[in-house]
Amino acid sequence: MKKFFILLFLFLILFNFLIGREIIGVKIYEHKGDLDLLFQEFKSLGINIVLVGEELAKNKEFYIKAKKYGIKTFTVFPVFCSPGKEFENKKFYAIDGYGNIAKDEWVNFACPSNEEYRKLKLKELKNIIKKYNPDGISIDFIRYFVYWEKIGPGEKIDPLKNTCFCDKSINKFEKTKGIRLPENLITTKEKAKWILKHHKNEWVEWKTEVIASMVKEITNLAKKLKPDIMFNIHIIPWREKDYNNAIRVIAGQDISKLSKYVNYVSPMCYWYMLKRKPQWVSSVVKDIKRFTNKPIVPSIQVSNEYLSKNISHEEFKRAFLSAMKKPSSGIIFWKWEFFEKEPNKKEIFKLIK
Ligand SMILES: [Zn+2]
Repeated sequence: MKKFFILLFLFLILFNFLIGREIIGVKIYEHKGDLDLLFQEFKSLGINIVLVGEELAKNKEFYIKAKKYGIKTFTVFPVFCSPGKEFENKKFYAIDGYGNIAKDEWVNFACPSNEEYRKLKLKELKNIIKKYNPDGISIDFIRYFVYWEKIGPGEKIDPLKNTCFCDKSINKFEKTKGIRLPENLITTKEKAKWILKHHKNEWVEWKTEVIASMVKEITNLAKKLKPDIMFNIHIIPWREKDYNNAIRVIAGQDISKLSKYVNYVSPMCYWYMLKRKPQWVSSVVKDIKRFTNKPIVPSIQVSNEYLSKNISHEEFKRAFLSAMKKPSSGIIFWKWEFFEKEPNKKEIFKLIK
Protein backbone atom coordinates (compact mmCIF):
# COMPACT_ATOMS: atom_id res chain seq x y z
CA MET A 1 0.00 0.00 0.00
CA LYS A 2 2.73 2.43 1.01
CA LYS A 3 4.55 1.64 -2.21
CA PHE A 4 1.43 2.43 -4.16
CA PHE A 5 1.16 5.91 -2.62
CA ILE A 6 4.82 6.62 -3.23
CA LEU A 7 4.37 5.64 -6.85
CA LEU A 8 1.21 7.70 -7.13
CA PHE A 9 3.01 10.68 -5.60
CA LEU A 10 5.89 10.33 -8.05
CA PHE A 11 3.48 9.97 -10.93
CA LEU A 12 1.67 13.16 -9.90
CA ILE A 13 4.93 15.08 -9.71
CA LEU A 14 5.92 13.82 -13.15
CA PHE A 15 2.47 14.56 -14.55
CA ASN A 16 2.55 18.05 -13.13
CA PHE A 17 6.00 18.55 -14.57
CA LEU A 18 4.90 17.51 -18.03
CA ILE A 19 1.46 18.98 -18.04
CA GLY A 20 0.65 22.07 -15.96
CA ARG A 21 -2.88 22.83 -17.04
CA GLU A 22 -3.77 26.33 -15.97
CA ILE A 23 -4.48 27.96 -19.33
CA ILE A 24 -5.77 26.01 -22.29
CA GLY A 25 -6.49 28.57 -24.96
CA VAL A 26 -7.17 28.89 -28.66
CA LYS A 27 -6.90 31.82 -31.00
CA ILE A 28 -9.84 32.13 -33.36
CA TYR A 29 -10.50 34.73 -36.04
CA GLU A 30 -13.52 33.54 -37.98
CA HIS A 31 -16.29 30.98 -37.63
CA LYS A 32 -19.17 30.19 -39.94
CA GLY A 33 -21.09 27.47 -38.02
CA ASP A 34 -23.33 27.35 -34.96
CA LEU A 35 -21.85 29.05 -31.90
CA ASP A 36 -23.49 26.78 -29.33
CA LEU A 37 -21.94 23.75 -30.97
CA LEU A 38 -18.58 25.51 -31.05
CA PHE A 39 -18.62 26.36 -27.35
CA GLN A 40 -19.88 22.91 -26.42
CA GLU A 41 -16.88 21.51 -28.23
CA PHE A 42 -14.51 23.99 -26.52
CA LYS A 43 -15.95 22.87 -23.18
CA SER A 44 -15.58 19.17 -23.95
CA LEU A 45 -11.95 19.70 -24.99
CA GLY A 46 -11.10 21.60 -21.80
CA ILE A 47 -10.49 24.98 -23.45
CA ASN A 48 -10.86 27.74 -20.87
CA ILE A 49 -9.73 30.86 -22.76
CA VAL A 50 -10.48 32.04 -26.28
CA LEU A 51 -8.40 34.75 -27.90
CA VAL A 52 -10.74 36.27 -30.42
CA GLY A 53 -9.56 38.42 -33.29
CA GLU A 54 -10.41 40.12 -36.56
CA GLU A 55 -13.98 39.62 -37.83
CA LEU A 56 -15.11 37.37 -34.99
CA ALA A 57 -14.00 39.95 -32.42
CA LYS A 58 -16.78 42.18 -33.76
CA ASN A 59 -19.48 39.54 -33.18
CA LYS A 60 -21.35 40.46 -30.00
CA GLU A 61 -23.11 37.11 -29.95
CA PHE A 62 -19.75 35.36 -29.62
CA TYR A 63 -18.97 37.09 -26.31
CA ILE A 64 -22.46 36.42 -24.95
CA LYS A 65 -22.20 32.71 -25.77
CA ALA A 66 -18.74 32.50 -24.21
CA LYS A 67 -20.13 33.83 -20.92
CA LYS A 68 -22.97 31.33 -21.07
CA TYR A 69 -20.45 28.49 -21.32
CA GLY A 70 -18.07 29.92 -18.74
CA ILE A 71 -15.21 30.42 -21.18
CA LYS A 72 -13.10 33.56 -20.88
CA THR A 73 -12.74 35.85 -23.92
CA PHE A 74 -9.67 37.95 -24.63
CA THR A 75 -10.01 40.33 -27.57
CA VAL A 76 -6.87 40.34 -29.69
CA PHE A 77 -5.90 44.00 -29.96
CA PRO A 78 -3.27 44.73 -32.64
CA VAL A 79 -1.45 47.91 -31.68
CA PHE A 80 1.32 49.11 -34.01
CA CYS A 81 0.57 46.82 -36.95
CA SER A 82 -2.95 47.09 -38.11
CA PRO A 83 -4.98 46.07 -41.09
CA GLY A 84 -7.17 49.17 -40.72
CA LYS A 85 -7.56 52.20 -42.96
CA GLU A 86 -5.05 54.22 -40.98
CA PHE A 87 -2.25 53.13 -43.30
CA GLU A 88 -3.87 54.49 -46.44
CA ASN A 89 -2.33 57.69 -45.25
CA LYS A 90 1.47 57.38 -45.09
CA LYS A 91 1.86 59.70 -42.12
CA PHE A 92 1.69 56.90 -39.54
CA TYR A 93 4.37 54.60 -40.94
CA ALA A 94 7.55 53.94 -39.01
CA ILE A 95 10.79 54.73 -40.90
CA ASP A 96 13.82 52.43 -41.02
CA GLY A 97 17.50 53.35 -41.10
CA TYR A 98 17.43 53.69 -44.89
CA GLY A 99 14.56 56.16 -44.78
CA ASN A 100 12.05 53.58 -46.06
CA ILE A 101 8.56 53.06 -44.65
CA ALA A 102 8.00 50.00 -42.42
CA LYS A 103 6.16 47.77 -44.84
CA ASP A 104 6.78 44.18 -45.94
CA GLU A 105 4.00 42.17 -47.62
CA TRP A 106 1.03 42.35 -45.18
CA VAL A 107 3.11 43.84 -42.37
CA ASN A 108 2.47 47.62 -42.05
CA PHE A 109 3.95 49.22 -38.97
CA ALA A 110 3.20 52.54 -37.34
CA CYS A 111 5.69 54.73 -35.53
CA PRO A 112 5.24 53.87 -31.83
CA SER A 113 5.96 57.51 -30.88
CA ASN A 114 3.21 58.96 -33.04
CA GLU A 115 0.77 60.56 -30.57
CA GLU A 116 -2.05 60.82 -33.09
CA TYR A 117 -1.82 57.11 -33.88
CA ARG A 118 -1.65 56.15 -30.20
CA LYS A 119 -4.77 58.21 -29.46
CA LEU A 120 -6.59 56.57 -32.34
CA LYS A 121 -5.74 53.14 -30.93
CA LEU A 122 -6.81 54.02 -27.40
CA LYS A 123 -10.13 55.24 -28.76
CA GLU A 124 -10.53 51.94 -30.57
CA LEU A 125 -9.78 50.07 -27.33
CA LYS A 126 -12.40 52.09 -25.45
CA ASN A 127 -15.00 51.16 -28.06
CA ILE A 128 -14.09 47.46 -27.89
CA ILE A 129 -14.49 47.31 -24.12
CA LYS A 130 -17.73 49.30 -24.09
CA LYS A 131 -19.30 47.37 -26.92
CA TYR A 132 -18.17 43.78 -26.29
CA ASN A 133 -17.18 43.69 -22.62
CA PRO A 134 -14.46 41.02 -23.02
CA ASP A 135 -12.86 39.38 -19.97
CA GLY A 136 -9.45 40.39 -21.23
CA ILE A 137 -7.38 42.15 -23.85
CA SER A 138 -4.64 40.27 -25.68
CA ILE A 139 -2.17 42.97 -26.66
CA ASP A 140 -0.68 42.11 -30.06
CA PHE A 141 1.91 43.80 -32.33
CA ILE A 142 3.13 45.78 -29.36
CA ARG A 143 6.61 46.45 -30.67
CA TYR A 144 8.73 48.01 -33.38
CA PHE A 145 8.65 46.78 -36.97
CA VAL A 146 10.18 43.43 -37.92
CA TYR A 147 8.85 40.60 -40.06
CA TRP A 148 10.06 37.94 -37.57
CA GLU A 149 7.88 35.22 -39.08
CA LYS A 150 10.36 34.97 -41.92
CA ILE A 151 13.64 35.06 -40.00
CA GLY A 152 15.14 31.57 -39.63
CA PRO A 153 17.91 30.28 -37.34
CA GLY A 154 21.36 31.67 -38.08
CA GLU A 155 20.11 34.52 -40.27
CA LYS A 156 21.51 38.00 -39.82
CA ILE A 157 19.34 41.04 -39.26
CA ASP A 158 20.54 44.18 -41.05
CA PRO A 159 21.26 46.72 -38.24
CA LEU A 160 19.73 49.53 -40.34
CA LYS A 161 16.44 47.63 -40.51
CA ASN A 162 15.93 49.20 -37.10
CA THR A 163 13.03 51.63 -36.57
CA CYS A 164 11.86 54.29 -36.02
CA PHE A 165 14.06 57.04 -37.41
CA CYS A 166 11.31 59.45 -38.39
CA ASP A 167 11.86 63.10 -37.34
CA LYS A 168 9.32 62.81 -34.49
CA SER A 169 11.07 59.77 -33.01
CA ILE A 170 14.54 61.24 -33.33
CA ASN A 171 13.38 64.49 -31.67
CA LYS A 172 11.77 62.60 -28.79
CA PHE A 173 14.84 60.42 -28.37
CA GLU A 174 17.09 63.51 -28.22
CA LYS A 175 14.87 65.21 -25.65
CA THR A 176 14.30 62.17 -23.42
CA LYS A 177 17.91 61.05 -23.35
CA GLY A 178 19.56 64.49 -23.49
CA ILE A 179 21.46 63.67 -26.68
CA ARG A 180 22.02 66.08 -29.60
CA LEU A 181 22.65 64.80 -33.10
CA PRO A 182 25.40 66.70 -34.96
CA GLU A 183 23.99 69.39 -37.28
CA ASN A 184 25.84 68.08 -40.31
CA LEU A 185 23.82 64.86 -40.48
CA ILE A 186 21.25 65.31 -43.24
CA THR A 187 19.81 62.00 -44.45
CA THR A 188 17.92 59.46 -42.36
CA LYS A 189 20.67 56.94 -43.04
CA GLU A 190 23.36 59.29 -41.71
CA LYS A 191 21.34 59.96 -38.56
CA ALA A 192 20.51 56.28 -37.98
CA LYS A 193 24.13 55.23 -38.43
CA TRP A 194 25.33 57.89 -36.02
CA ILE A 195 22.80 56.95 -33.33
CA LEU A 196 23.57 53.23 -33.63
CA LYS A 197 27.32 53.89 -33.54
CA HIS A 198 27.47 56.38 -30.67
CA HIS A 199 24.34 55.83 -28.56
CA LYS A 200 23.00 52.37 -29.28
CA ASN A 201 22.34 51.53 -25.62
CA GLU A 202 20.35 54.71 -25.02
CA TRP A 203 18.48 54.16 -28.29
CA VAL A 204 17.46 50.62 -27.36
CA GLU A 205 16.55 51.62 -23.81
CA TRP A 206 14.41 54.44 -25.15
CA LYS A 207 12.64 52.14 -27.62
CA THR A 208 11.71 49.69 -24.85
CA GLU A 209 10.39 52.62 -22.78
CA VAL A 210 8.20 53.80 -25.68
CA ILE A 211 6.65 50.35 -26.08
CA ALA A 212 6.17 49.85 -22.33
CA SER A 213 4.54 53.29 -22.06
CA MET A 214 1.90 52.23 -24.59
CA VAL A 215 1.18 49.07 -22.58
CA LYS A 216 0.80 51.26 -19.52
CA GLU A 217 -1.65 53.55 -21.36
CA ILE A 218 -3.63 50.59 -22.70
CA THR A 219 -3.93 48.85 -19.34
CA ASN A 220 -4.71 52.09 -17.45
CA LEU A 221 -7.52 53.00 -19.82
CA ALA A 222 -8.96 49.48 -19.89
CA LYS A 223 -8.93 49.20 -16.09
CA LYS A 224 -10.69 52.54 -15.78
CA LEU A 225 -13.51 51.15 -17.90
CA LYS A 226 -13.51 47.66 -16.38
CA PRO A 227 -11.51 47.29 -13.17
CA ASP A 228 -11.26 43.48 -13.26
CA ILE A 229 -10.17 43.24 -16.91
CA MET A 230 -7.18 40.99 -17.59
CA PHE A 231 -4.30 41.29 -20.04
CA ASN A 232 -2.19 38.97 -22.12
CA ILE A 233 0.74 40.23 -24.19
CA HIS A 234 2.13 38.69 -27.39
CA ILE A 235 5.90 38.41 -27.43
CA ILE A 236 8.26 37.69 -30.34
CA PRO A 237 9.73 34.20 -29.70
CA TRP A 238 13.33 35.33 -29.47
CA ARG A 239 15.61 34.44 -26.61
CA GLU A 240 17.94 37.10 -25.23
CA LYS A 241 20.91 35.94 -27.27
CA ASP A 242 19.06 35.38 -30.57
CA TYR A 243 20.15 37.76 -33.34
CA ASN A 244 22.21 39.85 -30.88
CA ASN A 245 19.37 40.59 -28.48
CA ALA A 246 17.09 41.65 -31.33
CA ILE A 247 14.05 41.28 -29.10
CA ARG A 248 15.17 44.52 -27.41
CA VAL A 249 17.37 46.09 -30.12
CA ILE A 250 15.01 45.62 -33.07
CA ALA A 251 11.56 44.89 -31.56
CA GLY A 252 11.88 47.08 -28.45
CA GLN A 253 10.27 44.40 -26.26
CA ASP A 254 11.69 44.32 -22.73
CA ILE A 255 10.01 41.44 -20.89
CA SER A 256 10.53 42.80 -17.39
CA LYS A 257 9.24 46.26 -18.32
CA LEU A 258 6.19 44.88 -20.18
CA SER A 259 5.16 42.04 -17.92
CA LYS A 260 4.50 44.19 -14.88
CA TYR A 261 1.33 45.52 -16.54
CA VAL A 262 -0.15 42.18 -17.65
CA ASN A 263 -1.49 38.88 -16.28
CA TYR A 264 0.03 36.58 -18.91
CA VAL A 265 3.03 36.66 -21.19
CA SER A 266 2.61 34.72 -24.42
CA PRO A 267 5.55 34.11 -26.76
CA MET A 268 4.44 33.08 -30.25
CA CYS A 269 6.47 29.88 -30.49
CA TYR A 270 5.61 28.92 -34.07
CA TRP A 271 8.51 26.49 -34.25
CA TYR A 272 7.63 24.95 -37.58
CA MET A 273 7.49 28.07 -39.70
CA LEU A 274 10.63 29.34 -37.96
CA LYS A 275 12.44 26.11 -38.87
CA ARG A 276 13.11 25.16 -35.24
CA LYS A 277 12.78 21.85 -33.42
CA PRO A 278 9.77 21.19 -31.13
CA GLN A 279 11.97 21.32 -28.01
CA TRP A 280 12.93 24.92 -28.90
CA VAL A 281 9.46 26.01 -27.67
CA SER A 282 10.41 25.19 -24.08
CA SER A 283 13.78 26.94 -24.41
CA VAL A 284 11.97 30.20 -25.28
CA VAL A 285 9.68 29.87 -22.24
CA LYS A 286 12.66 29.23 -19.96
CA ASP A 287 14.54 32.22 -21.33
CA ILE A 288 11.58 34.55 -20.80
CA LYS A 289 11.08 33.22 -17.27
CA ARG A 290 14.42 34.79 -16.29
CA PHE A 291 12.83 38.24 -16.71
CA THR A 292 9.37 37.81 -15.17
CA ASN A 293 7.36 36.09 -12.45
CA LYS A 294 4.15 36.33 -14.46
CA PRO A 295 2.68 33.12 -15.93
CA ILE A 296 4.10 32.34 -19.36
CA VAL A 297 1.69 30.72 -21.81
CA PRO A 298 3.35 29.89 -25.12
CA SER A 299 1.34 29.84 -28.30
CA ILE A 300 2.09 27.05 -30.79
CA GLN A 301 0.94 26.52 -34.34
CA VAL A 302 -1.42 23.68 -35.18
CA SER A 303 -0.88 23.72 -38.91
CA ASN A 304 1.60 25.07 -41.40
CA GLU A 305 1.75 28.68 -42.50
CA TYR A 306 4.34 30.15 -44.88
CA LEU A 307 5.75 26.67 -45.63
CA SER A 308 4.04 24.15 -47.88
CA LYS A 309 4.84 20.94 -45.97
CA ASN A 310 2.37 19.81 -43.33
CA ILE A 311 3.17 19.29 -39.66
CA SER A 312 3.00 15.61 -38.76
CA HIS A 313 0.94 14.52 -35.75
CA GLU A 314 4.08 13.23 -34.07
CA GLU A 315 5.88 16.54 -34.40
CA PHE A 316 2.81 18.46 -33.25
CA LYS A 317 2.63 16.28 -30.15
CA ARG A 318 6.30 16.87 -29.37
CA ALA A 319 5.80 20.64 -29.69
CA PHE A 320 2.76 20.42 -27.42
CA LEU A 321 4.69 18.57 -24.71
CA SER A 322 7.53 21.06 -25.03
CA ALA A 323 5.10 23.98 -24.68
CA MET A 324 3.52 22.45 -21.54
CA LYS A 325 6.84 21.82 -19.83
CA LYS A 326 7.43 23.89 -16.68
CA PRO A 327 7.82 26.78 -16.15
CA SER A 328 5.03 27.09 -18.72
CA SER A 329 1.58 27.87 -17.30
CA GLY A 330 -0.39 26.38 -20.16
CA ILE A 331 -0.78 26.65 -23.88
CA ILE A 332 -2.52 28.70 -26.56
CA PHE A 333 -3.13 27.04 -29.91
CA TRP A 334 -2.85 29.12 -33.06
CA LYS A 335 -5.47 28.66 -34.33
CA TRP A 336 -8.87 26.96 -34.07
CA GLU A 337 -9.39 27.23 -37.83
CA PHE A 338 -6.42 24.84 -38.27
CA PHE A 339 -8.07 22.24 -36.03
CA GLU A 340 -11.15 22.45 -38.20
CA LYS A 341 -9.07 21.79 -41.29
CA GLU A 342 -7.29 18.88 -39.59
CA PRO A 343 -9.77 17.51 -37.01
CA ASN A 344 -7.52 14.55 -36.20
CA LYS A 345 -5.19 16.96 -34.43
CA LYS A 346 -7.87 17.53 -31.77
CA GLU A 347 -6.60 14.23 -30.31
CA ILE A 348 -3.99 16.36 -28.58
CA PHE A 349 -6.60 17.59 -26.05
CA LYS A 350 -6.81 14.04 -24.66
CA LEU A 351 -3.31 14.55 -23.27
CA ILE A 352 -4.57 17.47 -21.20
CA LYS A 353 -7.56 15.86 -19.53
ZN1 LIG B 1 8.88 57.44 -35.63
